[in-house]
Amino acid sequence: MDKPVGILTRDEAKALGLQRYFTGRPCKHGHIAWRAVSNHTCWGCISIAKRDEYAANPDKSKQRRARYYSKNREAEIASMRAYNEKNKESAAAKSKIRYTENRDTKRAKAREWAKLNPGKRRAQHIERKARKKSATPPWYGEWDIFVMQEAGDLCVRRGEVTGREWHIDHMIPLRARNASGLHCASNVQVIPAALNMAKKNKMILTQPLEWLKHI
Ligand SMILES: [Zn+2]
Repeated sequence: MDKPVGILTRDEAKALGLQRYFTGRPCKHGHIAWRAVSNHTCWGCISIAKRDEYAANPDKSKQRRARYYSKNREAEIASMRAYNEKNKESAAAKSKIRYTENRDTKRAKAREWAKLNPGKRRAQHIERKARKKSATPPWYGEWDIFVMQEAGDLCVRRGEVTGREWHIDHMIPLRARNASGLHCASNVQVIPAALNMAKKNKMILTQPLEWLKHI
């Protein structure tokens, strides 16, 4: 009968120049593990003995390790390199997982903040949009910021009263065909979202309260 793959007698392992062999039978301590060709010792027993030895006298183990290392320097360096290569991938994977978790937490927090601060969220949104279009003038200051936040709050309050959506609108659009409005206190109004979306960057509803004629 053929032996299962991987099962070797000690003599077969020796003939192949191997340092260990595998019988598939447990040692007297129940380990089903490699055996050393040199003295039949079970690999599981060896590793337990080494662990106990280290616990009893870490310095001695470290010194032995250092002596071994100085004798087998090149092989050790190669195996450390291989270990690092392997670990590099798992380290990258871990950092990717951390990044994703972090990102999700940040997003959840931002959503939570937006829910609690709907007015500020609108102000923030319009600020960001203006920055993207480089429409914020250099003299933009405290007053403008205050007006944007008030406008954001006004959107929320009007929304509650009317049951429809309101937007902060730049009266002169930031990117109209023949004009470039500025992002500042004197160029914003709060109008129904539907009007704002119909307006886009057209030169309409550019005068204060003009929008009232369209609702
Ligand atoms: Zn054993």
